[in-house]
Amino acid sequence: MHTLRVADARDSGMEILRTSLVKDEVLFQEGETGECAYVIESGKILIVHDVDGSQETLGVLGPGEYFGEMALVSQQPRMASAIAGEDCILTVVTRKHLEERLAKSDPLVRHMLHLTLRRYREALNQGFIEQPSGTTASADEQLAINRMRTEQALLQALENEEFLLYFQPIVRLADRVTMGFEALLRWNKPGTGLIAPNLFIPIAEDSHIIEKLGHWIIDEGCRCRAQLARQYEQPLHQDFTVSINLAARQFQDPELVSSIGQSLSRHGLDPKTIRMEVTESQIMEDLAHTLTVLQGIRSTGCKIAIDDFGTGHSSLAYLSRLPVDTLKIDKAFLLDAMSDESSQKIIAGVAALARSLGMGFIAEGGETEEQICLLQDLGVEQVQGYYFSKPFPLAS
Ligand code: C2E
Ligand code: CA
Ligand code: CA
Repeated sequence: MHTLRVADARDSGMEILRTSLVKDEVLFQEGETGECAYVIESGKILIVHDVDGSQETLGVLGPGEYFGEMALVSQQPRMASAIAGEDCILTVVTRKHLEERLAKSDPLVRHMLHLTLRRYREALNQGFIEQPSGTTASADEQLAINRMRTEQALLQALENEEFLLYFQPIVRLADRVTMGFEALLRWNKPGTGLIAPNLFIPIAEDSHIIEKLGHWIIDEGCRCRAQLARQYEQPLHQDFTVSINLAARQFQDPELVSSIGQSLSRHGLDPKTIRMEVTESQIMEDLAHTLTVLQGIRSTGCKIAIDDFGTGHSSLAYLSRLPVDTLKIDKAFLLDAMSDESSQKIIAGVAALARSLGMGFIAEGGETEEQICLLQDLGVEQVQGYYFSKPFPLAS
């Protein structure tokens, strides 16, 4: 990538940047924190996102179009990657540029612009299904319209049976036996393809749709657990579980515990073959209420894991009081562990903590042989990661 500094004649002292890309060159990757937005002067940019390791094209942008602008208003990771579809020249707008210009402007203009940019960001976040284009609606109207459209699309998708669960094995390192699967939601949207859960679950959580969708996920997870017991080519381990994710908002659903109980009996399951995954930050949000709901879930007989452990500031004092049988450490620790000794110590420490509390321990995100060997050396019992398998759908 060649970045040129070009003096901006209209604004002496400041510079604008231009960058050129050759076909197939990656400008930025999904998950990176961005600093810049871009305007295409010539060429084509593909906006793609990763679903289970394969790339899906969300859009193709051409001259005059603008992208990556979220980076100007927030430090959230990029939601998609940008790749040159052909040789391109782009104008680069950095956060610093914007801030320098804003600092010189009238405080009222500055304030209004900040508010508008924030609303615009929310509108885009809510409306990923249909990006606003060529519309003259205000940011408020756009936000409302996009949210409505998305909610309707999610309800319609439930009705049309466009959701499905993918399953990823959880493997015991000592003997490489598969101890269970985690159920991971996908939306197979006609004309678009598979959509990853991070892109639509937050929208479902902003409305009551998550309750309906949550009941479907629980029931489908139970149905698949029963199907696995009948169909899996090797006999399942006696402790084989299917793990089902719960969204934070499902903790407010008065029907949650009864829907778990109903699904368990509808599919004739031994409750201990199902494990509910709850993130550490969900638990800490309202500890007293969560504890009551977790006890309700536990009373159905199914197991409970704390997911993304290490990211949610949990109080260790409470850990032993929660009705939880497994800790899953967030994959970020493993990502750092190859080069950072303190991450290795954290993984080994949490594995030891789980053991001393009589809990199971799962490390997420094992992708390479080296990582698997390291985890084994650190005393990790079970691993879930691309090294063993990417998530896959069950044969019907
Ligand atoms: P999670 O619960 O932490 O799920 C693990 C995520 O890590 C999955 O992403 C999985 O595909 C990915 N993963 C597994 N192994 C590897 C690896 O080796 N490398 C990398 N880079 N990634 C790996 P996925 O399926 O996109 O799900 C993302 C998040 O969406 C989940 O994170 C969970 O928070 C949420 N989610 C997924 N399914 C559901 C669901 O049914 N209900 C709710 N409420 N949330 C769900
Ligand atoms: Ca999970
Ligand atoms: Ca996790």
